[in-house]
Amino acid sequence: MGRRRKKVLRISRKTLPKVFACPHCGMQTIRITSHIDETSQDTVFLLACGNTTCNLRRELRYPTKRADIDVYNTFVDDFAKAGA
Ligand SMILES: [Zn+2]
Repeated sequence: MGRRRKKVLRISRKTLPKVFACPHCGMQTIRITSHIDETSQDTVFLLACGNTTCNLRRELRYPTKRADIDVYNTFVDDFAKAGA
């Protein structure tokens, strides 16, 4: 008996680039990862620069899920204000 092959339909969707420009070293090396904090139920975003000579990292928390780009904008604003 031949097995019926299920055709997997893949919806092609353009994914936005997951890397952002680093406000410190200026390279397209910022990656954003997020997870839910089990204790506070906050969404924790970790922004990290992939450039090893830069190593900029920041953690941002929000009570609700946010778009990466919003988090990134806050991160850049914060960075500009801190003047680090
Ligand atoms: Zn950097």
